[in-house]
Amino acid sequence: MSFPPIRPELAGIEPYGAPQLTKDAAPVQLNVNENPYGPSEACLDDIAASVREAARTLNRYPDREFTALREGLAAYLNTDGGQGLTRDEIWAANGSNEVMLQLLQAFGGPGRTALSFAPTYSMYPEYARDTHTTWVAGRRETDFSLDLDAAVALIREVRPNVVLLPSPNNPTGTALPPEAIGVLCEELGESALLVVDEAYGEFRREGVPSALELLPRYRNLVVSRTMSKAFAGAGLRLGYLAADKAILDAIRVVRLPYHLSAVSQATALAALRHADELLGKVDELRKERDETVGWLRDRGFEVADSDANFVLFGLFEDRHAVWQGLLDRGVLIRETGPDGWLRVSIGTPDEMTAFKTALTDVVKELR
Ligand code: PMP
Repeated sequence: MSFPPIRPELAGIEPYGAPQLTKDAAPVQLNVNENPYGPSEACLDDIAASVREAARTLNRYPDREFTALREGLAAYLNTDGGQGLTRDEIWAANGSNEVMLQLLQAFGGPGRTALSFAPTYSMYPEYARDTHTTWVAGRRETDFSLDLDAAVALIREVRPNVVLLPSPNNPTGTALPPEAIGVLCEELGESALLVVDEAYGEFRREGVPSALELLPRYRNLVVSRTMSKAFAGAGLRLGYLAADKAILDAIRVVRLPYHLSAVSQATALAALRHADELLGKVDELRKERDETVGWLRDRGFEVADSDANFVLFGLFEDRHAVWQGLLDRGVLIRETGPDGWLRVSIGTPDEMTAFKTALTDVVKELR
């Protein structure tokens, strides 16, 4: 037996993660769907002052129920599709990855099944593996949309306990059609949960509704969000969800006590006070995204429609060569998604110009 005595199914598995390069190695970083705009001085001052206050109490455990933060998150969600949500329907953890892991700890497990539709977010099968939940992935259409009839048929066959559906989807950028959530919630009934992962929800195009609007109608619906993307808070590690109170009570059974530090709570609350500023770049990023989609299409690339802050494009015979060529020119994007495709996150106008210049150059060189 080799050392360490790890669970056999984990032996030899590489930890999940995109290549992390320094700014020197890759000055233009467009690989993990971050918001390129940092906080203003005013916001920094507020965060620093709030953390300083929180630090006075660091000898004590933090508020285990992060009550003020749940209240702030509920108020924010009510400005973006939430219908009278209260803190009793809000939960948070260290990134929406942790929120969804907790969901599978409580609602998945041995003998239970989680379902999604590929290509999709590559952490979902990891949450399933780590909670001993059976993982099943159906397929998306060639344009990465979800065929609702096929999805319903697969649900009838598999009888999942949890369905994880990002809207917009990562890495394709595809939003769910508005009718999908109702149809799937009805199909699942109260013996299973539909988790709509709206990590990129704020970037959706005009007219695309948020699943938050449907929470009053479906008790088995969970909507997950994060401060990592639109809120420009990837370093904060703060994800959250809105759902029925009974679902929250189930999560409380599996969460570790005091999982959200006093520093995280204070920082997130300060960020919420500056929501207008932090979210202020969303419109610009959406415009830049639409512009990038148009630019790529004009040059003959295939591009998936995107409701997110990234764009999946291709098709390349040797995508690794294109990825490497871009990196050689200082532009780091992500080699992910189906074969032949690459994903670029939307950055500042200067960063997108650097990306376009580098891509034009690489394609010419590889031709
Ligand atoms: N869901 C999706 C679809 C994502 O792409 C990501 C991050 N890449 C997450 C959830 C997790 O984000 P975080 O843990 O930063 O909230």
